[in-house]
Amino acid sequence: MSEIIIAIDGYSSCGKSTLARALAAELTYVYIDSGAMYRAVTLFLEHGIRMDHKPSVDAALEQIHIDFQYGQEGLVTLLNGENVEEGIRSMAVAAKVSPVATIPEVRRALVRQQQALGRGKQIVMDGRDIGTVVFPHAELKIFLTASLEERVRRRSLQLLRKGLSVPDEEIRKNLLERDYIDSTRSDSPLMKAPDAVVLDNTNLTEEEQLLVTVILALTRKRRSIV
Ligand code: C5P
Repeated sequence: MSEIIIAIDGYSSCGKSTLARALAAELTYVYIDSGAMYRAVTLFLEHGIRMDHKPSVDAALEQIHIDFQYGQEGLVTLLNGENVEEGIRSMAVAAKVSPVATIPEVRRALVRQQQALGRGKQIVMDGRDIGTVVFPHAELKIFLTASLEERVRRRSLQLLRKGLSVPDEEIRKNLLERDYIDSTRSDSPLMKAPDAVVLDNTNLTEEEQLLVTVILALTRKRRSIV
């Protein structure tokens, strides 16, 4: 069977990373959370960098090195060698990441790194522009959806697991704001690739394996025909 790239896109908190992680584990593929990369850049740029000043952004991007490490707590994001998982998942970063992700220089730098990570295939990457821009030739593209209420519920649970109690209203507002910015920006907006398979994740619990089973069947099919 040949090795492939699986691209998973969709709105915020619709279960992309849970699904991508499960698929990567089943296939012994690498999982890359591209959203964590935009979050890490946001964390770095927060240190007084003028985001409307191209040379400052370019200089900052040259100083940023993002890595992933598989530790006991699962996938951990490293920014210049430092574990930044806690910082990048904060509401403060969630509130700023989508504007940062509209900056073309930021997108260009991260897309380049993401494409390099996919050179050997055997990768599952989730994000907003994976099937459209990062890997337009990915052998399997999934566009995941879920109802807004379910997305709020999942995000709230995720935050609670990290010890953060955030009112649903604040979470809902953040998700809607990010959805709006992500899908209306001029540089690589979130959209379904024409050849993506749309799957609705609303009624499946994290434990349910149905979606993973369906996608594994799709994966097998694609791997035997490429
Ligand atoms: O996936 P996650 O919710 O962590 O992504 C955080 C933000 O990063 C998104 O709301 C979006 O603004 C940006 N992003 C992006 N392109 C990607 C992945 C994430 O613009 N491929």
